[in-house]
Amino acid sequence: MNKVLLHILIMLQLPICTFAQNNYTTIKIPSHKHNEISYQMAWCKAHNGIMEYENFDKTRIDCLTSTHAVEFDFYNKWAEGIGQALYYGFMTGKKPMVVLILENQKTQMVYFKRILKLSKIYDFDVEYVTNDILNLDDDGKCFNKGCKCYKNKSILK
Ligand SMILES: [Zn+2]
Repeated sequence: MNKVLLHILIMLQLPICTFAQNNYTTIKIPSHKHNEISYQMAWCKAHNGIMEYENFDKTRIDCLTSTHAVEFDFYNKWAEGIGQALYYGFMTGKKPMVVLILENQKTQMVYFKRILKLSKIYDFDVEYVTNDILNLDDDGKCFNKGCKCYKNKSILK
């Protein structure tokens, strides 16, 4: 093979491989102890909302109350949560709202604060819930028997 061509090929491929490898190794998917729906059920019931309200375009709202179209998300999906809440507000004519799930208030409050800043500019509401809403028993299991906390063996034992 032509030496120059070989060099070009090496130069082109090397950064692509390095990039792919870096990308692969830095992917981190956080694992959550309870299902999102457990928080959603507790909050929506307390606010007399309709769970999984279906819009005419088949998109589903986590909880629709008399005043708000509410989207629930774990802290790591804070940005997607805003987009979904805004869309559901637009679809229903209700005020968009994000309920952010914080499993650890100390480390995750920073994400709530990001949304809070934007909520004042873009006219939507935001609040957060913690594990307090789940009514956990001594084994760390929540009120929702269908939650994954019943499927995993308790770490506390
Ligand atoms: Zn649970």
